[in-house]
Amino acid sequence: MKVTEHIKNAKSTIFSIEILPPLKGKSIKEIFDCIDPLMEFKPPFVDVTYHREEFVYRKRASGYLEKVSIRKRPGTVGICAGIISRYKVDPVPHLICGGFTRHETENALIDLSFLGIENILVLRGDARKNEGSFIPEPEGHHYAIDLMAQVTAMNHGKYLDPDLNHADQTNFCIGVAGYPEKHFEAPNLKVDLHHLKRKVEEGADYIVTQMFFDNQKYIEFVKACRDLNITVPIIPGLKPITTRSQIANIPKSFYLDIPEQLTDEIMKCKNDEEAKQVGIEWCIQQSKELIKYGVPCLHYYTMSKPEPVVKIARAVF
Ligand code: FAD
Repeated sequence: MKVTEHIKNAKSTIFSIEILPPLKGKSIKEIFDCIDPLMEFKPPFVDVTYHREEFVYRKRASGYLEKVSIRKRPGTVGICAGIISRYKVDPVPHLICGGFTRHETENALIDLSFLGIENILVLRGDARKNEGSFIPEPEGHHYAIDLMAQVTAMNHGKYLDPDLNHADQTNFCIGVAGYPEKHFEAPNLKVDLHHLKRKVEEGADYIVTQMFFDNQKYIEFVKACRDLNITVPIIPGLKPITTRSQIANIPKSFYLDIPEQLTDEIMKCKNDEEAKQVGIEWCIQQSKELIKYGVPCLHYYTMSKPEPVVKIARAVF
């Protein structure tokens, strides 16, 4: 079933999660060990992130360095198949522009459609670690909206080969990313919202937000979207802080602010265990407030560590 249908049919706020494929060499059991304890809260859909290749330098016998491309976390499509067969819930694979030509994207969409997958979160992806800015593949997409246009075209039976007549129409419900504290490359929130509105006009069915720690940021973002006539559901993404170092690392990686009260409380913690308790409590309060505000769904970034989210869900759902 589509994410939008789950939202429409729900009588109260839905619980959902995002998981990461395990590092290459690990088994799918790692994913099941993460999802198993969270099934108690009946997530109707589970997002599975996509991780593109990275370049690493390996020393050859000659002493020269060799640039090698590796994907540290492959397996998104296989994990989606595993989720369907084990839990009978809807997986939401993330699909990115980075690393894909249009033809590779088309083939990936065909695979997903054959698996019976009806939801996709369409994203651009970040720049590779050693590249300053995002570089699309030759014949690839530059922005999420361009990738979306390909998905919506396939939903209308339009594939890349112009001679292909009466091609099967895929049936994807399309989610896109939104940034309550603005995407870091956008010059300001107004411009970022303009691009978000275009994604919705192009056919995005719902928005999932980047994590935030101050609910006011989400509420203002939703208001700004509604003022622009962006009417699709806006699902808040939440992540509990679990270590002391995250109050420095999260703003650096995700370009967002952590409220003073939360940083003050984390800085008082003597170890990561105490910090995790503070992070869980903060996330419980955020979740309860957002439910009161009437959010359609609370989407938790598990980072494939279920325990903090289990504690939050027990207190909230
Ligand atoms: P876009 O919507 O393309 O926007 C990127 C930037 O370009 C923004 O600043 C926007 O304002 C601007 N822009 C958009 N369209 C245009 C245009 N036509 N012309 C000029 N400027 C434009 N990354 C992964 O690699 N794998 C994942 O699984 C993954 N999951 C994510 C899940 C969520 C919920 C979120 C919020 C992010 C996720 N990301 C993931 C990270 C995401 O790929 C990055 O944040 C990326 O930098 C932007 O992706 P986007 O889809 O928002 O890009």
